Amino acid sequence: MFDTLRNIIQDVNDASGLTQALNIIVQRTRQVMQVDAVSVYFRDHKNNQLVLMATDGLNQEAIGKIKFKPDQGLVGLVLTQAEAVNLEDAHKHPNYRFVTETGEVSFHGFLGVPIIQHRYISGVLVVRQTRKRRFSANDETFLMTLAAQLAGAISHAEKMGEMTRWLEDVDGRSFDLKGLSGSPGIAIGEALVVFPPANLDAVPDNSISEDEIDEQLNAFSQAVANVEGEFRMLSQRMEGSLSKEELALFDVFGLMLKSDSLIQAVINRIQQGQWAQGALRETISEHVKKFNAMDDAYLRERAVDIKDLGRRILMHLQKQQTRYQPVSNPTVLVGEEVSVSQFAEVPVEHLVAIVSTKGSASSHVAILAHALGIPAVMGVDNLPVNHIKGQALVVDGYSGMVYVKPTSAMMDEFQRLIREEKSLDIRLNELIDKPSETLDGIRIPLHVNTGLLSDITPSLKSGAEGVGLYRTEIPFLIRDGFPGEDEQTEIYRQVLQSFAPRPVTFRTLDIGGDKALPYFPVVEDNPFLGWRGIRIMLDHPEIFLTQIRAILKANQYDNNLRLMLPMISDVGEVDDAIVLIKKAHGELISEGNDIPYPLIGLMIEVPSAVYQMKSLARRVDFFSVGSNDLTQYLLAVDRNNKQVASLYNSLHPSVLNSIQHVINVAHQYDKTVSVCGEMAGDPASALALIGMGVDSLSMSVGSLLRVKWVIRSFSRKQAEQLAAQVLTMEKARDIRSLFNQALNEAGLGGLVKAGN
Ligand code: PEP
Ligand code: MG
Repeated sequence: MFDTLRNIIQDVNDASGLTQALNIIVQRTRQVMQVDAVSVYFRDHKNNQLVLMATDGLNQEAIGKIKFKPDQGLVGLVLTQAEAVNLEDAHKHPNYRFVTETGEVSFHGFLGVPIIQHRYISGVLVVRQTRKRRFSANDETFLMTLAAQLAGAISHAEKMGEMTRWLEDVDGRSFDLKGLSGSPGIAIGEALVVFPPANLDAVPDNSISEDEIDEQLNAFSQAVANVEGEFRMLSQRMEGSLSKEELALFDVFGLMLKSDSLIQAVINRIQQGQWAQGALRETISEHVKKFNAMDDAYLRERAVDIKDLGRRILMHLQKQQTRYQPVSNPTVLVGEEVSVSQFAEVPVEHLVAIVSTKGSASSHVAILAHALGIPAVMGVDNLPVNHIKGQALVVDGYSGMVYVKPTSAMMDEFQRLIREEKSLDIRLNELIDKPSETLDGIRIPLHVNTGLLSDITPSLKSGAEGVGLYRTEIPFLIRDGFPGEDEQTEIYRQVLQSFAPRPVTFRTLDIGGDKALPYFPVVEDNPFLGWRGIRIMLDHPEIFLTQIRAILKANQYDNNLRLMLPMISDVGEVDDAIVLIKKAHGELISEGNDIPYPLIGLMIEVPSAVYQMKSLARRVDFFSVGSNDLTQYLLAVDRNNKQVASLYNSLHPSVLNSIQHVINVAHQYDKTVSVCGEMAGDPASALALIGMGVDSLSMSVGSLLRVKWVIRSFSRKQAEQLAAQVLTMEKARDIRSLFNQALNEAGLGGLVKAGN
């Protein structure tokens, strides 16, 4: 039986969609277990019921019709008990309910197991026998293993949006999707789907009209001809170095390109109304599956060649296609994994929101959205990307909800919320020229986090007292190659001069992690624990020195620079970086420039740095806590991973206690501490940080006035008392509610409520 199990699982994995996976499970299980009926029920969370979704043995007409509430029938019992129910004679059980609506026969033997995904029961898998039958322990294990497999298939289907469409019967109707709040705010716009280039798996479906078919067919044959030409060239180039037999390998590609089954299959799909890229994706994936299933190891390897071929054709197709259609309406950028560079290519005046399948609030795309005051919802893993193009969307960046095809009543409601938000903004705007000081007169300068030149004006208008974090990687991310010293100097000069005499804190290049430069690829198994930030810079002094020289040169006019090093995990890194900074400075002086030596600070974002604070404080002038990374590393929670997003919390007691330690040690050495991670812009966390003695805060411009309102509504004493109280608390949830309560009591409930 367990050999068969492996085969079923293989087939379920290869299934083309949830319907096929379900059918495989019910039909094969019925054969293997020799039962009279197998059924799968899905949980319809909204209506609090289990709905029959697939069956072999029951009347097919019953699909979608048989429904159980959690307190009804044995199927409901499996749900409420969250474990297997195994009955020799179901009739004797008090919960037994005979389903008559669809003319079913009555069953005696019953075995039902829950389908569980991430602690949540998403359905029930049931086998039934007309006669009495005592199912064995082996039967139970078999069914439980299948249920776990089914959970994976459901998860996958959810990702593809199939579940949503089934349960919501979405034809023309609105439906909603849940993600994580990435950047606050509410927006209404039209979905524009983006996907990464040269990645076959990421190509979405796109139906084309009759008159576009010829154009797509031509694009495809042009791309194939280009790839043929490429292979011919490769083969000629290799002629001298490879034998005839080896060169024949290139002919295989040529043959594949001529093979009817491949090319014709793509053409057929285009003729049926799929665009060329989608038709190519489907055909390549079908062929890869066939090759992967072959017994012969040599033939199995050909799957790699087919994929390579597919990627090459795709690259040519994408070259012909302009990647973005011109947009004129308010646009919501939607994608599997919206990247910083995709973001930067859409005209900002039309971009109203971001929706991404991957990522969370501390992903760089979300941070950028926040900087531009655009709402973002991240980690929407059941996003039906393929079906969402051009649809009207409401994006609620407070609650992390996305509403697709909203009804007019919903539109009215969200438009009302947008108006309310505007009126809160008007109230907050009155604070622009007021000082950021507590009720007992303590000044807490508020700075902005930025990296975009387009941010300068809004930042200045918001009353920011300087830049607490200038992410220098952003100009690097949106270019095709490393910017040279002069180009960098010009960018940095504009920032320094625009803010002068206010201080501007430049962070040296912090690439790696989730910020890969397209022209400097770093491929690692664990990028967040890998070659990142200062580690790359010390290994590439030529890149580091160019940047330092550019920053120092840009500072010669106003001397308002503070230089900050990211990802410090060891004092040695600080010593090495300072040697290079001194070298760059010395060079500039000897070239005849009159350039001041800068203040140097460190980001505290790796736990090892927290516990080397004394040594670090002896070496530098200031500190800034990078709470995004500090939280990720202290809690061992990937900041972009939706699966563990509920564990990522900067109000976790260990994060707060670490920051308190950083502040205490820095102050012993008369060094200042700022916080520039996302928590600085969250009203409750900002209150905690003020109570813990932080000297300044740096945040996205959109949060600045909200935090100023908090600062102006409390005395430092009050904040200190709250902080002292929470530092002894054990749970982040309790800590947040204590601060939210304090904000509510001080009349700042508007900052706590979602949608405000
Ligand atoms: C941080 O880690 O908190 C930080 C501000 O840096 P980044 O988000 O750019 O990694
Ligand atoms: Mg960081």
